[in-house]
Amino acid sequence: MTNIGIINAVSSYAYISSLIKRDKPKPAITSFGEIAKLLHLCKKNMECRPGCAACCIAISISSSIPGMPNGKPAGVRCVNLDDDGYCTIYKRPDYPKICGDFKADPEYCGNTREEALKNLAELERLTS
Ligand code: SF4
Ligand code: SF4
Repeated sequence: MTNIGIINAVSSYAYISSLIKRDKPKPAITSFGEIAKLLHLCKKNMECRPGCAACCIAISISSSIPGMPNGKPAGVRCVNLDDDGYCTIYKRPDYPKICGDFKADPEYCGNTREEALKNLAELERLTS
């Protein structure tokens, strides 16, 4: 995903939403990784909200991750989250690259965990 034309074309959640609202073909994004790649392009250097973990719940992961060999369905809490909303395998050798690629962005992280859960659930709905 280095083509600048693609980067410009899919540079925001709003744009993805608008594509779908206009009944144009949905972007071919069906997994956490693909969503992460798209959203990564519009990151605005937001600091991740400590203990939020909305993305570890709302978004689906199609590939196998530690403790979830069949991936993680959307809306299901990742088994690697602790009770305080922190990843227990962060920086471990088997920490999924897909998770590391996902960056906080006010566009979908919003101002609160609840906003992030809502935005990311909507994004999942639009892209599945
Ligand atoms: S492995 Fe860690 S970062 Fe990835 S979804 Fe699970 S808790 Fe979140
Ligand atoms: S939803 Fe955003 S703020 Fe919350 S944990 Fe994920 S990246 Fe961080």
